[in-house]
Amino acid sequence: MKKTASNISIQYPPGLSADDQSMIGRALELATKAHAGQTRKSGEPYIIHPTAAAQYLLDWGLDADTVAAGLLHDTVEDTALDLADIEAEFGTGVANLVDGVTKLGQVDFAPHIDGTTERQAISADNLRKLLLAMTKDLRVIVIKLADRLHNMTTLKYLSPESRQRIARETLEIYAPLADRLGMGALKCQLEDLSFQYTDPEGYAHIEGLMTGYMKEANRYLARIKRFLMDELKQGGVEVINIEGRQKHYYSVYKKLAKADGDVSKIYDLIAVRVQVAEVSDCYQALGLIHHHFKPLIYRIKDYIAVPKPNGYRSLHTTVFALDGRITEIQIRTPQMHDEAERGLAAHFIYKDGRSRVMGELAWVNQLGDISSVAKTGQDFVENISLDLFQDRIFVFSPKGDLYDLPEDSTPVDFAFAVHSDVGLRAHGAKINGKMVPLDMRLENRDVVEILTRREPAPNRDWLGFVKTPSAKGKIRAWFRAAGRGENIVSGKAVLEQEIKAWDLRRLEELPKARLKEVVADLNYKDLDGLLAALGEGGVTVGQVTRRLFPPESTKAQMPVVKHPIATGKVRVEGSAEPLPYLLAPCCQPSYPATIVGYITRGSGVTVHRRKCRNLPEEPDRLVKCHWEVDGEERLRCRVMVTAANRIGMLSDLTSTISGLGINISGMSSSGGEDGNTHFEMYLEVPELFMLADVIKQLERLPGVKEVRRLPR
Ligand code: MN
Repeated sequence: MKKTASNISIQYPPGLSADDQSMIGRALELATKAHAGQTRKSGEPYIIHPTAAAQYLLDWGLDADTVAAGLLHDTVEDTALDLADIEAEFGTGVANLVDGVTKLGQVDFAPHIDGTTERQAISADNLRKLLLAMTKDLRVIVIKLADRLHNMTTLKYLSPESRQRIARETLEIYAPLADRLGMGALKCQLEDLSFQYTDPEGYAHIEGLMTGYMKEANRYLARIKRFLMDELKQGGVEVINIEGRQKHYYSVYKKLAKADGDVSKIYDLIAVRVQVAEVSDCYQALGLIHHHFKPLIYRIKDYIAVPKPNGYRSLHTTVFALDGRITEIQIRTPQMHDEAERGLAAHFIYKDGRSRVMGELAWVNQLGDISSVAKTGQDFVENISLDLFQDRIFVFSPKGDLYDLPEDSTPVDFAFAVHSDVGLRAHGAKINGKMVPLDMRLENRDVVEILTRREPAPNRDWLGFVKTPSAKGKIRAWFRAAGRGENIVSGKAVLEQEIKAWDLRRLEELPKARLKEVVADLNYKDLDGLLAALGEGGVTVGQVTRRLFPPESTKAQMPVVKHPIATGKVRVEGSAEPLPYLLAPCCQPSYPATIVGYITRGSGVTVHRRKCRNLPEEPDRLVKCHWEVDGEERLRCRVMVTAANRIGMLSDLTSTISGLGINISGMSSSGGEDGNTHFEMYLEVPELFMLADVIKQLERLPGVKEVRRLPR
């Protein structure tokens, strides 16, 4: 049915009081009258827009004042109605909200969005802050978000230019604002709606990818839901609901860009959300899940004990679940779920009931209003709630220019933000008139002065403390361009480390004539030129060692072993051709463990340890497998490791070596007089460069003092 002004209505949630319903009804009536005769670009009556916005606000749990203001949000700007009319009819509360939304509508984002100016003061980040700073009452932002959400759903009726501009503005300004307010579901909605327009091809690509992926993933989700439901209930956890969630498109798109377009590197395309009755059930469920499935340790997140800054709470874990499939599981109570979906709006219903006005929250009152923004930068900063902007700070130049830096930035970051020339020549800093070290942490509102020298002379140590990527990049670039001396030193260190594997001598002891040949062969003027290129990455250490130690001549000096050695590869039996297979991530089989293959649907054979708990009990889908062994020649090297005598040292050494696929054919150890243990080992490597890797890795182990190759 086509919407006309006369069949517009609002769905009230159960439990909304008669008074509230009557006020919202009156607001709808007034807005309908005020917008009478106006149409949207879609041709529909204008009133469908404020009505849709108001419906969102009701669904998000906002109070009646906010819903009424949502209905009236465009009246002052676009109709004959004025604030006084609204105040007379609905009181100052509603009038102030409408006034706030109207003022926000006057902020002009165009300069930023068009990219026509590079002024730092109007980055997307600053615009978001400006919006918040202009708003005494956060409900104004929430109304603006409802307004934007509906506009995004009807964007197709606008011109291509407007679509682009509005979609980018939504992506850069409004979606992050929704995130700040903890409105997770809304943030995802806004991002996906914008993404369709900002990159239609990218969107179509992700859509196709996810549609294909979900066909298979849905079957898996059904299985894991059933499994978890049974196991958690048996374990005494009161499960409310388990659902599978697919990652929203825009977030897949961003992750995919980071993963070089390789979708198999993203293992949280789907997540399982478990809702349980109580907070204690959350932890119990986590324990039960970890009992069944091995977790990835660094992916266990307790956002209940330590909520995210926007208030988000849940337990997250990523486990090797059924079939060893890596799966993210989120555990939460219904209250946490509701808060995560609806954000701040949900917070104050639960805490304080429907009557509580959001503007009363203490930290919201710290926000300034537009009049102070208009004055000076100093006022602007003083009126911003620092709680809201924990990750950014504002500092000033002595002239009063405002700079926006990440938290924990230093005077060096500031210097590079002013100008790269100031950064490169920085040699001292004053904060609020006092001399400070260059790695001092800047605080909000600091006035920072940089003392410069005549010539650029940055310090490599700065790289250890600067916070901004741009400062880091500029310092690196300078050293690349000008740091020849430094590069020679680091190039020499790289080569000396590598040489340990190839020759028993130090760099200086190698025959000069041999070195000269290699330098000439690689087109450098002298050895320093080659070392500098090594230090800066213009030539690789492999290019040098290949020439310095030709494989044939080194092999000739070394014992060659010919007994069979495992390649680490698996052969699936029963087929003439080698079949593709995957080592199961759950049990990570390695030679010489007894193994068995499991034929998966669609993705070949997964190889498990015979004893793996995750091995499905489906005998007709299991196939025999064995480790491939070859008779390749290996070079036998004698290596001496000098290391502190600590528990676990020997196992660290051997697991590091075998982790690199290298065989240890013999070993002895002896305690030295210096309190160290000397491990003498025979390693069998296919090529000497692999020995170089072993030496490097071993020297990184805690307690390892030195690794040396010994004569045969
Ligand atoms: Mn509007």
